[in-house]
Amino acid sequence: METSYDAIVIGSGISGGWAAKELCEKGLKTLVLERGRDIKHIKDYPTATMAPWDFQYRGRVSREYIEKNPLISKAAGFGDDTKHFFIQDADHPYIQEKPFDWIRGYQVGGKSLIWGRACQRWSPYEFTAPERQGYGMNWPINYQDIAPWYSHVEKFVGVCGSRDGLEAMPDGEFLPPFGLNCVETHMRDKIKATYPDRHMVDARWAQITRADEIYLQQGRGKCQARNMCMRGCPFGGYFSSVSSTLPWAEKTGNLTLRPHSVVHSILYNEGTKKASGVRVIDAVSKEEMTFHAKVIFLNASALNSLLILLHSKSSRFPEGLGNEYDLLGRYVAFHNYRSYTSGQLDGFEDKYYYGRNPTEPIIANYRNLGKQTMDFAGGYTIFTGAYRSGFETYEGPQFGPEFKEHMTRPGPWRVYMYMQGETIPKETNRVSLSDSEKDPWGIPLLVTDVGYDDNDDRMVKDFMQESVDMMHAAGCRDISTGDNHQAPGLDIHEMGGCRMGTNPKNSMLNAWNQMHLCKNVFVTDGACMTSTGNQSPSILYMALTARAVSHAVDELNKRNL
Ligand SMILES: Cc1cc2nc3c(=O)[nH]c(=O)nc-3n(C[C@H](O)[C@H](O)[C@H](O)COP(=O)(O)OP(=O)(O)OC[C@H]3O[C@@H](n4cnc5c(N)ncnc54)[C@H](O)[C@@H]3O)c2cc1C
Repeated sequence: METSYDAIVIGSGISGGWAAKELCEKGLKTLVLERGRDIKHIKDYPTATMAPWDFQYRGRVSREYIEKNPLISKAAGFGDDTKHFFIQDADHPYIQEKPFDWIRGYQVGGKSLIWGRACQRWSPYEFTAPERQGYGMNWPINYQDIAPWYSHVEKFVGVCGSRDGLEAMPDGEFLPPFGLNCVETHMRDKIKATYPDRHMVDARWAQITRADEIYLQQGRGKCQARNMCMRGCPFGGYFSSVSSTLPWAEKTGNLTLRPHSVVHSILYNEGTKKASGVRVIDAVSKEEMTFHAKVIFLNASALNSLLILLHSKSSRFPEGLGNEYDLLGRYVAFHNYRSYTSGQLDGFEDKYYYGRNPTEPIIANYRNLGKQTMDFAGGYTIFTGAYRSGFETYEGPQFGPEFKEHMTRPGPWRVYMYMQGETIPKETNRVSLSDSEKDPWGIPLLVTDVGYDDNDDRMVKDFMQESVDMMHAAGCRDISTGDNHQAPGLDIHEMGGCRMGTNPKNSMLNAWNQMHLCKNVFVTDGACMTSTGNQSPSILYMALTARAVSHAVDELNKRNL
């Protein structure tokens, strides 16, 4: 196999797929290195069309599997139908100084196969909130810098949503939304009447609701609302790198994809002051090999990218690539999902909805927007929705005609809200490498030392109070709420550790996601995040990646790299 390329991309998930597409389209011979096995669209979705009775335990995971995998089995969407897209705990150990549930999917496509597909844009406020509210450092870019790149990726990904003109959640290039059901519409109106600044809207989801030409060219079609997205969608109805960016890159003839390639480290050339390539361990044979390229995109997912950088040691950078000021691995943050509120809403028993809906509405952030007004910093998005529960309460026999008759009658309307809160990037929330323990490929284990703080507690308290009040305003009864104190990591939005900034003393990356101290390395996954915002982050990683590739190729053409 060739060992020299124009570009190397490490990781083939959401951000790596975008790096590959953009680099290949611009004519660069690109090698994508992926530690997991290959996954081909449709062919490798073994459960995609299975019915509940086709599964041994009707969709439930065996007790034995859960006992062997106590960590990964906690993940949202984990089930017998999806477990093959999640790692198994014992294969990929790490060390938790404080409880941290590190959720991973190691295969071609990474977590893009199993993500939830929520795609809100950041508001202009998030890029400057850290300094305005005194909890961190501003971004080196603002909303106007990234807005055209959001548009660029939204058009290709296929994002459905409503156009609402909200400051907290700007509009984009949206396909038609699925729409709110009758109880959601009622909630929206009641909440608006009581709190004019709170907007419950259709949100934005990477789900194709209109089969435009650009999706047909990708071999993707309209979402069939099967609500089985995380098994892999044979219609390509939701976005994953397996259905979209990677096959698109392959069509250019410029892509080489090498699965089973565990990246060990990035090699630094002291003479050129640039990275010369990547050291790889074959996941199966454990053979070591080296690949070279002019430019390297690091997209192994936030914590894995930090691990690779920390492990890329040279005499110039003994503490990890570009890590002159002990910033690498620090300021790791995540999203706070600790609270869930639910209730029942009466009066709509004669109404139902048509079909299934793979999306849910959002109440856009209404806290600390533009200026701090609360006793905590940052904001939160609320995911919400209303549905008919199971079937009517019934105490008769659990079989026979009477039972079947009851099953035809849906139960009461249930309503829920859960938070996705910003957390503060702190120097002390960090990851590092173990001095003594290694993984099966001889790479030191990652040590996570990441926890909540008082700001998170105050935000949870506010959400609990406000969600209960909003449910009361909507007319709900039997409302319950709580703080589940789940460990960080289970939110699956880990970010930071190699943040963007204005100079090497405050950050690892510049405004183009380019390493200040090693110019031909670009980090465009969650590791680059200077702060977390309150919106789902992946669409921002995609936009930052496309923007960074454009810059990298310009720099290559100017012979600056
Ligand atoms: C259940 C679930 C729901 C989610 N919902 C949402 C949502 O609604 N909205 C949202 O924005 N985000 C959501 N996320 C998060 C989203 O999946 C991630 O933000 C996104 O996948 C990150 O993209 P990435 O490219 O950084 O990493 P990934 O998609 O994880 O891809 C990284 C790839 O790098 C590979 N890799 C790792 N280490 C190495 C190495 N050493 N060498 C070679 N390859 C390596 C991995 O195998 C993987 O394929 C969700 C995640 C999960 C699991």
